[in-house]
Amino acid sequence: MSDTQRKFSIDRRGEFYCFDGIINEHTNFRKFEPKEKLLKFDLSGISYINSIGCKTWIQFFDTLKDREVEFHRVSTAMMTGISMLPGLLPPSGGRESIKSFKLPFCCVNCDADNEAVVTPSDLAVVHDSVFTKLVACQFCGNPATLTEANSEFLYLFAYEIVDD
Ligand SMILES: [Zn+2]
Repeated sequence: MSDTQRKFSIDRRGEFYCFDGIINEHTNFRKFEPKEKLLKFDLSGISYINSIGCKTWIQFFDTLKDREVEFHRVSTAMMTGISMLPGLLPPSGGRESIKSFKLPFCCVNCDADNEAVVTPSDLAVVHDSVFTKLVACQFCGNPATLTEANSEFLYLFAYEIVDD
């Protein structure tokens, strides 16, 4: 693993705080003190989170429990983490905090790996299965299908939608 992959960074891009890299024992949020009442995080760059990173993450978001927190374009690595440990969601909003996230697709025509950003409203639950809107391959335009093994976190939304 290269140093760039290990490194964690926080950048401000427009209205978003963008988290990039790996969340682990080297990650700390001590110098990051956002002031806004509504905090929008872009989590598309998080490539990995380990158990010590989870602890740091939970402690950090606990300090923001009186704010409104939104997670945008959440990476599949982070969505997988959240589905195993829902405590990674902000205490103030829970699953409602996830505004959009990335889903891995594979093209049935050219076999290329694709990633699409979807929102919880793009999902539908039929019986116990979660379906998402049709995604076109960004390389050839043909329909792409969900990469099942990497999209199990979709079940995080199953019961929430059924309850609606
Ligand atoms: Zn294709």
